[in-house]
Amino acid sequence: MSIIIHGGGMTGAILALMLFKLTKGDLEISLIEQHSPYCCDTQLSLNTYPPHVIALSRGAYYELIRVNIDSILSSCSTVIKQVEISEYNRLHKIFINAQDHQLSELGYVIELNIFRKKLFNFLQKKSSVTIYCPATLKKIKREKKKNIVTLDNGHQIVSKLIVAADGAYSTLATNCGMKWFRYNYQQIAVVSKITTEIPHFGRAFEKFTEHGPLAMLPMSNNFNFLIWCISNKQQQEVSRWNKKKFSQELQNIFGWKLGKILNIETRCFYNLWLTRAQSHISHRLALVGNAAQNLHPIAGQGCNLGLRDIVVLSKIITQALYQNIDIGDYSVLNTYQKHRYLDQYRTIKITDGLVRLFSNHYLPLIIARNVGLFFVSYSTILQRLLVNTILNWKTD
Ligand SMILES: Cc1cc2nc3c(=O)[nH]c(=O)nc-3n(C[C@H](O)[C@H](O)[C@H](O)COP(=O)(O)OP(=O)(O)OC[C@H]3O[C@@H](n4cnc5c(N)ncnc54)[C@H](O)[C@@H]3O)c2cc1C
Repeated sequence: MSIIIHGGGMTGAILALMLFKLTKGDLEISLIEQHSPYCCDTQLSLNTYPPHVIALSRGAYYELIRVNIDSILSSCSTVIKQVEISEYNRLHKIFINAQDHQLSELGYVIELNIFRKKLFNFLQKKSSVTIYCPATLKKIKREKKKNIVTLDNGHQIVSKLIVAADGAYSTLATNCGMKWFRYNYQQIAVVSKITTEIPHFGRAFEKFTEHGPLAMLPMSNNFNFLIWCISNKQQQEVSRWNKKKFSQELQNIFGWKLGKILNIETRCFYNLWLTRAQSHISHRLALVGNAAQNLHPIAGQGCNLGLRDIVVLSKIITQALYQNIDIGDYSVLNTYQKHRYLDQYRTIKITDGLVRLFSNHYLPLIIARNVGLFFVSYSTILQRLLVNTILNWKTD
């Protein structure tokens, strides 16, 4: 049997890997990706491409280790040992230390460019995996028993199932008539690689500022990765700031926990939307990752949720394959859909709730935030709950 994965981002490439490992080469896998992972065109980073760096929960990281890519992962990841959560100009802070919870780490920061290159290198050597890259899908014909896909280079691929892993604006799913719920947060994320005077020592920071949340994630070679959410209105002003002005403003808001901000690399801007596909499936089609849902980065859950999509889908496909059931059959896809609903609903609710709570200047909500941070900072039970939420890795 055969499967086509459309989109070789984080979720598409890892899905190919998981399926390869689980089916031990018994499933023919075609991966279609428009941009070569070896291409270093920085323009790709602007909105059309994911940020260079993302934080993965401890659970997600260990799920990836289970597919034996330890060496690939460790070469592009930095451990998060402590998370500090605070609100701008207010007293209460929450410190979550891995050690206090008898853990060696709370999560990992993954450098996506390096990870994708290594993953593509690995997949390219597998005989049951064919990578079409750079390539795009030109036409899809979904028949009763199979899909027929034509690529822009004229090549045709036939498969039982096609997976849309082509991101939030999935052209494949759009062509297949899928619809999304979309909500514009009217916010922009500014991301950049930052050098600071003091090493991060594995510390990650999340600060809720007047304008939106700001995260500073630890990276290799003591760089930090900034994700700063601002309102649409501020984008023009912020994009006019030169490096010096940006540094000063960031220093004012972030403070001196990492000492002086010494350098800021190219800044990229992302429009922030919540999107949710009306369904995870359609005829011989399954949606995963950002194609299924696209979240605000406030809680760093987008990729984590997408990874849970592919863990579930790969297990269901493997089971069907070895029971000699058509992997694109409605019953198989419906099992996938049923298993994803609750996790998707819950994660979207929590993330969206946090965005609304922390972007609001309504007095009762400001009080609620402070009371919340105050209680969590003094209560071990509440801290344990928060840690469990951060570490959470349940696929249904
Ligand atoms: C600022 C920011 C910070 C974030 N931080 C975190 C975090 O800390 N933790 C976390 O879990 N998540 C985070 N996320 C979310 C995370 O980046 C995404 O959830 C994740 O990258 C989605 O991966 P994906 O593979 O599903 O989609 P994408 O990354 O969008 O990949 C889609 C792939 O499909 C390809 N493609 C698209 N169209 C076509 C086509 N027509 N033909 C061929 N190929 C095509 C693209 O080139 C791309 O490679 C963050 C997001 C943002 C914006």
